[in-house]
Amino acid sequence: MVDTQNNPRGEALDVFVESNRVSCDGGTSGHPKVYYDLNEDGEAWCFYCSRHFIRQSAKAD
Ligand SMILES: [Zn+2]
Repeated sequence: MVDTQNNPRGEALDVFVESNRVSCDGGTSGHPKVYYDLNEDGEAWCFYCSRHFIRQSAKAD
């Protein structure tokens, strides 16, 4: 099931990462390379392309 309430634009791409700091350049969409620090929940969203970064360890038990 897709949680549309947490994904209102319907275009966010989940990206699993292993560190607290991520970079995004938009891939095929392309935008200036930017860096984000994941929040305390292990998540970050790209301001440009709405990518949703999730720390893998945050999901592991
Ligand atoms: Zn991006």
